[in-house]
Amino acid sequence: MINFDSVTKIYSNGTKAIDDVSFSVKKGEFAFIVGASGAGKSTLLKLLLREEMPSSGSITVNGYSLSDLRPKDIPELRRSMGVVFQDFRLIDSMTVYENVEFALRVTNVPSKNIRRRVPYVLQLVGLADKARSYPYQLSGGQQQRVALARALVNNPALIIADEPTGNIDPQMSYEIVELLNEINRCGTTILMVTHEHRLVREFGKRVITIRKGKLDSDISVKGGAL
Ligand code: ADP
Repeated sequence: MINFDSVTKIYSNGTKAIDDVSFSVKKGEFAFIVGASGAGKSTLLKLLLREEMPSSGSITVNGYSLSDLRPKDIPELRRSMGVVFQDFRLIDSMTVYENVEFALRVTNVPSKNIRRRVPYVLQLVGLADKARSYPYQLSGGQQQRVALARALVNNPALIIADEPTGNIDPQMSYEIVELLNEINRCGTTILMVTHEHRLVREFGKRVITIRKGKLDSDISVKGGAL
């Protein structure tokens, strides 16, 4: 599903943000990526989304070999992933329903399917009763659940969550990860970047630690190093 093979990323100013990193995430896995600020986590996600290209090494995501990908195929790659950000990135002038619907509209899904799919994912994240609310009328945790509904609406095989609990309180954070856990149980692969060690410990999933651009450790669910 995700494969990094000896990936190095050196930015144009000479900073080596990712240094010879190799790992794979299989279909159906739930993996946390942890690391201090500046360790290279954002760069890793940018490489996955093909916002950045590696300086060397190769990356495969959802069957796409990113170095061979033609620019016209990049939207297709990105649609194969649902992405959730720390700052939610909802459109303030749109209702909850419209925010989720918008993500489907850009993919030319027939209206009939939209009318079925949007209520379904809103119900999945526990926000069926907030469909007509605007983002400012919701708590941080609820806004993040809208963002998660939007990420799920195209039924992606992979969800990438970039510090999704960074702006919400601990109880809500737990609920967001619990929701990701449920989504994972239904077969979706989850990659979540976080620096909240408490959450990581509580959920007992695979933990990939990045340190100064290098893969520092990769600990599986059962506690053994991979
Ligand atoms: P993290 O997300 O773990 O905080 P980043 O991937 O943002 O880490 O950064 C890793 C390293 O790469 C840091 O030293 C950072 O300053 C550097 N970096 C990030 N983006 C750029 C960029 N566009 N140009 C140059 N250096 C960058």
